[in-house]
This record gives sequence, structure tokens and C-alpha cells, in this order.
Amino acid sequence: MPRPMITDKFGRRLQDLRISVIDRCNFRCRYCMPREVFGSDYAFMSKDELLQFDEIERITKIFVALGVKKLRLTGGEPLLRKDLPDLISRLARIPGLEDIALTTNASLLGKMATDLKEAGLQRVNVSLDALDDQTFMSVNDSGFSVHPIIENIYQATEAGLDIKINMVVKKGLNDHQILPMARFFKELGITLRFIEFMDVGQTNGWNFEHVMTKKDMYQQLSKQYELIPVEPAYFGEVAQRYRYRDSSTEVGFITSVSETFCSSCTRARVAADGHFFTCLFAGEGMNLKDFLRSGFTDDELRDVIIDRWQKRDDRYSELRTEETAKRSSKIEMSYIGG
Ligand code: SAM
Ligand code: SF4
Ligand code: SF4
Repeated sequence: MPRPMITDKFGRRLQDLRISVIDRCNFRCRYCMPREVFGSDYAFMSKDELLQFDEIERITKIFVALGVKKLRLTGGEPLLRKDLPDLISRLARIPGLEDIALTTNASLLGKMATDLKEAGLQRVNVSLDALDDQTFMSVNDSGFSVHPIIENIYQATEAGLDIKINMVVKKGLNDHQILPMARFFKELGITLRFIEFMDVGQTNGWNFEHVMTKKDMYQQLSKQYELIPVEPAYFGEVAQRYRYRDSSTEVGFITSVSETFCSSCTRARVAADGHFFTCLFAGEGMNLKDFLRSGFTDDELRDVIIDRWQKRDDRYSELRTEETAKRSSKIEMSYIGG
């Protein structure tokens, strides 16, 4: 049966869904969960506050019935969520959901890769910001070294998962790692995407001077490699893709700051406690968990989601200024899930 097409105020369809399954993480990346804020006394969500698997499944089915075809699970660190493969196998059975992906720091990926694949996971984006231990450790601020992460990437590839690497580049922190990362993943034939450092949340001390733009990164890369542009694979693809001239391996840029892509943003986000957001930089979400737990029917839930999407007029990145970047109401990346 054809699914309805719902659009927001700018005609953008609802096509992708990102669900955060947990707000906790075993890393304290400085640009995401700085230890000074997310310390030992930080109040993470209790078990009861988190959406349960039944609730995640129910919400996903409703979004899929509204046109969503692709789902990404994220966090916090999603692999810390107990029994995640069970959740994935339930989601993989939803008719009409064509693609399930996961974003992870990969610290626990090796031992879980086979279970995740067997559960129906197709794609994994591994976040890795450096190849040298000193830099990596200064980013994750939790004592994790690079070698086990690379081993886990090998294991995930062997398990049949399709892997891409995401590297957030922050000037002065890890920009010297652009070329070593490019060289390493080109050799392995794994796509690497460079992500511009964004002003998500209010705790990471962002300012424009810390942003390594696509232009800066492209310049560095093109001193070493010839890059050929690759056409987008689908409408709303966020990465600008290139291929190395002498190989079929791709490299990409996610230019959320320097070349914004709000006009094709088709993503809805649900935080681990069930708040539904229509933009990564939103201040307020709609609490779907309250509706679920107060006996709303699927049709009623569907109607509130449609209503919210139809009122959507977000285009934060297009309007970004030093002032909006300092706005105090933005939610944190570890909460909304990136
Ligand atoms: N813990 C998982 C991980 O790191 O892959 C999933 C959640 S994490 C919030 C999702 C993605 O957001 C990661 O790739 C991370 O590097 C990225 N991220 C976090 N803070 C960011 C920021 N300020 N700017 C750009 N990307 C950021
Ligand atoms: Fe954790 Fe991912 Fe945030 Fe790093 S980016 S602190 S791994 S949630
Ligand atoms: Fe989408 Fe908001 Fe990002 Fe624009 S700023 S691309 S609307 S999430």
C-alpha cells in the first residue's frame, strides 16, 4: 500500500528517523560530553525514563507508516544499551523499513558485530577522530586507545557489516590527523567522512574559529590526492562525496557549518526518553513517551506526529550566527544523538 507523504512548511518530506537508545557513554569526547559537565555526579536517565523496546518498536512503526524508510540508532553510546541486538531484530521485521544503521564509537563493536549483523543491522558508522593514541586519548578523555577500535572495525567488516568512518575535525585538536586518516582508510577501502565541528548543545565551547571547514580540509587532501566528485546517491544525502582518482574508495565531507543542507533535511529525531525533535539544534521536543504511557492509540500518536511535522520550519544551520551559536536552550548531542 502506498504510504502517505507528509511535508513540513518548506515542503520537506519525513523520510529518515534517528533514535537515541541511551544517553550514557563510556567516552567523554571533549566536543560532545566534556568531563567537567558530564562528571560522576551527572544525572543520566533512569531505566524508567528510557523508552522501552516495545515503545521504540511502536514509535518506529508509526514513523514508517508515515513514510520513513531509513532508521539510524544512536546515543550516547548505543552499544551500552542492554540487549541492543534484540531491539534490532524486532525493528528489522517492520515492513517498509528498508535500512537500519548504527552510529557508534566502536569500543564494544568487535564482540557484538556478529550478533548485530544476524539481528538485521546493515550499516555502521564508526566515529574515530584520530589514528595516533595521544590525540585520540585527548579527544575521548577516557583512556581508550586506537588499536582496539581498529581491531573492532576489522571484526565488524568480517561479520559482513558495511562500515563507514566519521571523523569530527576540530582545529587545533585533531586537524593534523586528516591526512593520516585519509591514507589509512583509503588503503583499507573504507569510506571516511570528515565532519565539521558543530555548535550543538551548550557545553562544548564552540566558536567559528574552531571549525575546520570543508574548504580547509579539501585543500589539505588535494595536496596529496586527486579527488573526483561523486553524484549524490539519493535526495537529502548529507555527505558531499568524492572518489580518489586512483581507487574506487570514497571520501566525504559533512559541511553542516560552511555549506548547510537544511533545504533537503528530511530527518526526525527521537531522544532516549522519547522526546521527538525536528532539528538537531531544537530547544524543545514533544514528549511521545507521555502520550504512549497515557494510553494514546496509534492513530492519535500518528496525528500528533503529523501535526508537528507539518508545523516544522527549522533551518538552524542556514541562519547560524555567533549569537545563535551561544543560545542557551539547545539540547546536547549526547541526548539527541547526532
Ligand atoms: N557515541 C556514538 C558515536 O560517537 O558514534 C553515537 C553518538 S555521537 C553523539 C554521534 C556523532 O556525533 C559522532 O560521530 C560524534 O563524533 C558526533 N558529534 C558529537 N558532537 C559533535 C559536534 N559538536 N560537532 C560535530 N559532530 C559531533
Ligand atoms: Fe560518546 Fe559519541 Fe559523544 Fe563521544 S561523540 S562522547 S563517543 S556520545
Ligand atoms: Fe536539519 Fe536542523 Fe540540521 Fe538544518 S540545522 S540540516 S533543519 S537538523
